[in-house]
Amino acid sequence: MPAAGNLAAAAWTDVGAAPLVLVPVGSCEQHGPHLPLSTDTVIAEAVAARAADALRPDAGGQVLVAPAIAFGASGEHAGFPGTVSIGHEALTAVLVETVRSLALWAGRVVFVNGHGGNVPALDAAAGRMRVEGHDAAWAGCGVPGGDAHAGFTETSAMLHLAPDLVRPFGAVTGETRPLAAIMPDLVAGGVRAVSPSGVLGDPAGASAERGREIVADMVASVVRRIGGGRADERGRLLDPAVPRSPVPRA
Ligand SMILES: [Zn+2]
Repeated sequence: MPAAGNLAAAAWTDVGAAPLVLVPVGSCEQHGPHLPLSTDTVIAEAVAARAADALRPDAGGQVLVAPAIAFGASGEHAGFPGTVSIGHEALTAVLVETVRSLALWAGRVVFVNGHGGNVPALDAAAGRMRVEGHDAAWAGCGVPGGDAHAGFTETSAMLHLAPDLVRPFGAVTGETRPLAAIMPDLVAGGVRAVSPSGVLGDPAGASAERGREIVADMVASVVRRIGGGRADERGRLLDPAVPRSPVPRA
């Protein structure tokens, strides 16, 4: 068995009984003039692989990382060449059929998501799979206070994970108003309407060192949520470190 639990490198005879399978979900979408189209996929793959390594000692069974689903729902980035979006409906179908197929031999399936635009499809697919009785759920790669798109957070993460793919970003500017303020324009005209560079946030000050910390936080959060094992009705794994408040948030 390949040491990293990489499903793509395994032979069928390497696969044990009812393993936990992590499936990275990314995108092929513009990430400003300085980051590659694969940014979300690179981050999701790395977080899934590191989470698998952290989970393995206590898992009581195999933890495998499947090949990434590398096309997502990126319609809001359609104004930029390079972006490939399969949309929510197709992505939901891909996620559903991935779980149904995995369920023939896997014990548990967790999607590790690197792209916010995929969330409606993940909610729909994981929620439906749970109703069908599958042990399927998902966890995202966000960090508290992270900026939205191709800014400090993702640029730092990529400087840590794939520095050869990061171009100079000193002159790159983005839209830094809060997401809530730009949302009407974003919904109406896509990212191009609010940010000509494609960046939502600001890469200034991004560094590999901060990226190392950011990715470690993403991994720790995913590990906590998978270890906790509780999901809501949409299949979102809940963080046991964040107690549920009985007081509804405004
Ligand atoms: Zn991204």
